[in-house]
Amino acid sequence: MAQKVISIRPESLMPGARAPRYDGGQLADTLGRPMRDLRISVTDRCNFRCVYCMPREVFDADYKFLPHAALLSFEEIVRLAGVFVGLGVKKIRLTGGEPLLRKDLATLVGMLAPLGADLTLTTNGATLVKHARALKDAGLNRITVSLDSLDEATFRAMNDADFPVARVLEGIAAAADAGFAPIKINMVVKRGANDHQIVDAARHWRTDGRGRGHILRFIEYMDVGSTNGWRMDDVIPSAEVLRRIAAVFALEQAEANYGGEVAERWRYRDGAGEIGVISSVTRAFCRDCSRMRLSTEGSLFTCLFARQGHDLKALLRGGASDDDLRDRIAAVWRLRDDRYSEIRTAQTEEMRAQQRKVEMSYIGG
Ligand code: SAM
Ligand code: SF4
Ligand code: SF4
Repeated sequence: MAQKVISIRPESLMPGARAPRYDGGQLADTLGRPMRDLRISVTDRCNFRCVYCMPREVFDADYKFLPHAALLSFEEIVRLAGVFVGLGVKKIRLTGGEPLLRKDLATLVGMLAPLGADLTLTTNGATLVKHARALKDAGLNRITVSLDSLDEATFRAMNDADFPVARVLEGIAAAADAGFAPIKINMVVKRGANDHQIVDAARHWRTDGRGRGHILRFIEYMDVGSTNGWRMDDVIPSAEVLRRIAAVFALEQAEANYGGEVAERWRYRDGAGEIGVISSVTRAFCRDCSRMRLSTEGSLFTCLFARQGHDLKALLRGGASDDDLRDRIAAVWRLRDDRYSEIRTAQTEEMRAQQRKVEMSYIGG
């Protein structure tokens, strides 16, 4: 994604205004949304080249990943995370890139655990066999594993690293053995790439399937970054995913676990567990979005689609106090007005409406 980092001084956020101070009350952005979740990217590297995320043509041997010195250290991450928790963050997700490529990740988990936030990890599962037990022992609460297909050829084509399904399944089994339950399985659905696998995946992960009843979540393919050649035609809407599954296994909608939950929950009527659908494209959930993102090199992004980050590393390394950091983060959140997906959904609908008009005139309406 073509993201830029800007360095801001709080007083420059609103001309003539002083930096907003966090006064211990509820911190809310311009749309009244609280800051609840923090996603921390611990590396920009990955051992996969998923076609929808890090296409090999772009992320090739010449691609310049961040040098080690640019990365936030564990101490810096923990210090910032502590400030975020002080501002109301309840959930911290470690991600990347592939987070398990960051050396000694379990040590970071052990350093973050005392903050008391719900500590979670999203991984491609490639090396989970090796790390699952240590992560659990260090205090990781929950784990999400991405697995886009159970079919060998389809999965290898999607991860574009010739990585076998079996190794990810072994990782998921190791995580379950270590005590993670339920494990969430993310499946990004891209038309023509893996949509023929939707029902097979559902069957596998049902409680009566071979996958021990972990929770499968179907994610609509998104236009993140600027390298994946996204087209609306490649998106399989969640409604279609549900239709295809319901044709085989009867489904009914289940209550959200909590307000603002990103995945919509559906359960099998025969009691064989549940699935989730994440409709980032067709049913944007910006209204409840409480997520802040901290990049690998310490920039703060208020939206997955934000073009500009706010440089916290310079502050950290420039001797800022915890109060300075807190004021800066609160100032950024208070001015947040992102709702990219909602706007895209509206535009997509408008585009479709226009396309329909064109077709009408074509046939002589
Ligand atoms: N490498 C880890 C993994 O794959 O689980 C963590 C990072 S990855 C960027 C986090 C999640 O984003 C994964 O579940 C991945 O499938 C999803 N993702 C990446 N690109 C996406 C896209 N274009 N549309 C929808 N989801 C995407
Ligand atoms: Fe790597 Fe995850 Fe992106 Fe796939 S989705 S390329 S595993 S970061
Ligand atoms: Fe949140 Fe931005 Fe995604 Fe909307 S588009 S849900 S504001 S991250």
